[in-house]
Amino acid sequence: MTHALQAVRGMNDILPDTAEIWEQFEDLVRDWLRSYGYRPIRMPLVEPTPLFKRAIGEVTDIVEKEMYSFEDALNGEHLTLRPEGTASCVRAVIQHSLLHGAPQRLYYHGPMFRHERPQKGRYRQFHQIGVESLGFDGPDIDAEHILMCTRLWDDLGLTDIRLELNSLGSSEERAAHRCALVAYLDAHRDQLDEDGRRRLHTNPLRVLDTKNPLLQPIMEAAPRLSDYLGDESWAHFEGVQQILKDAGIPYRINHRLVRGLDYYNRTVFEWVTDRLGAQGTVCAGGRYDGLIAQLGGKPAPAAGFAMGVERLLALWQESGGEAVRPAPDVYLVNAGIEAGRLAFRAAEALRSHGFSVLQHCGGGSFKSQMKRADGSGAPFAVIIGDDEAAVGEVSIKPLRGGGEQRRVAVDALAETLAELLYLTEEREA
Ligand code: ATP
Ligand code: MG
Repeated sequence: MTHALQAVRGMNDILPDTAEIWEQFEDLVRDWLRSYGYRPIRMPLVEPTPLFKRAIGEVTDIVEKEMYSFEDALNGEHLTLRPEGTASCVRAVIQHSLLHGAPQRLYYHGPMFRHERPQKGRYRQFHQIGVESLGFDGPDIDAEHILMCTRLWDDLGLTDIRLELNSLGSSEERAAHRCALVAYLDAHRDQLDEDGRRRLHTNPLRVLDTKNPLLQPIMEAAPRLSDYLGDESWAHFEGVQQILKDAGIPYRINHRLVRGLDYYNRTVFEWVTDRLGAQGTVCAGGRYDGLIAQLGGKPAPAAGFAMGVERLLALWQESGGEAVRPAPDVYLVNAGIEAGRLAFRAAEALRSHGFSVLQHCGGGSFKSQMKRADGSGAPFAVIIGDDEAAVGEVSIKPLRGGGEQRRVAVDALAETLAELLYLTEEREA
């Protein structure tokens, strides 16, 4: 016997019970995005590798060790499975001149790929919902993003989730801070770990972000970026905070929040929960004013954020959020050749009237079919046997809450069912 093949490690099948929850979540998210005027955009899963190197930065975890990159065997092109959506979205916006004229509020969702060590809340194929606002320079759009998130957590009934906020300033301010930071870290060189020493000169901000507990005291005392922010950066940061205060949104300023991607400036934020263990960041984002120009577009400011769908759904379930299993309105039982033919006519007629119908296929006894009907969760079974078929009639049997079985002409089926469903809903309300 041959081995049954397995999915790639860290890449998950999402089976029907879970996929139904995903779809309900996606419906809710789509309504939420529309209510803020965001429009969908869909980008390819594969992009030229240089896009991510340029956008995310050569000395980042993602580009250094997490990308699924390969050479196209047919033409030698260097390609990468997208590890995130911002770079692709900005590439698409530039390529199609979407920013000529008005600014854009965009969103996308779908799988992202990172070669990380799989564990709870960390996968090699995972899903993000990303939001990007391009062409806006004020603090109002940064605040809108945060307010949006708050509303979504509310819609989902999530409570244990907190906001961390920081400002990374401008690239000049970061450069001045960087000089001071490199000097400081160099003075503590002996105490750093290997990663820290390696990144000291290439990406010192990331050294600050280390998770190594032994290094925390050194990092706490390091020069703070906030001491290097100029007036404009402060005004922007305070503008964001003012709107958050007006809206009554609590937040904590975390001076060491720097984000793992190089393109951010000014506002950065993360939404964090303690309920998911080590993988507690469910949403992260910020401003990236330099990225559009860096990728060859006409300079324009921009900001965005991305949510980790797996982590959010885990938190949703953790918080008691439960999806209602969608059931059909009708399970259509049919036994016999004539009955089978009438069943197709009846089922299609019902669907034309807007009912969802699960038609029994594959034959079998009435008894076994009725078992399936019960299991389907449908409130009604419509039953067709050959004697019903001979006179163009069907039987309707309520499956929940009692009620009489009745026989009606197939042409009156939709109307009768509509009345019965209405009565059932009235009773349940
Ligand atoms: P982390 O610090 O957890 O690695 P990150 O800073 O690399 O996160 P981002 O690139 O900002 O993550 O992606 C935004 C969100 O996508 C994260 O906050 C998280 O919810 C989710 N995410 C990122 N990587 C993964 C992954 N490998 N598996 C599942 N979700 C992920
Ligand atoms: Mg990461």
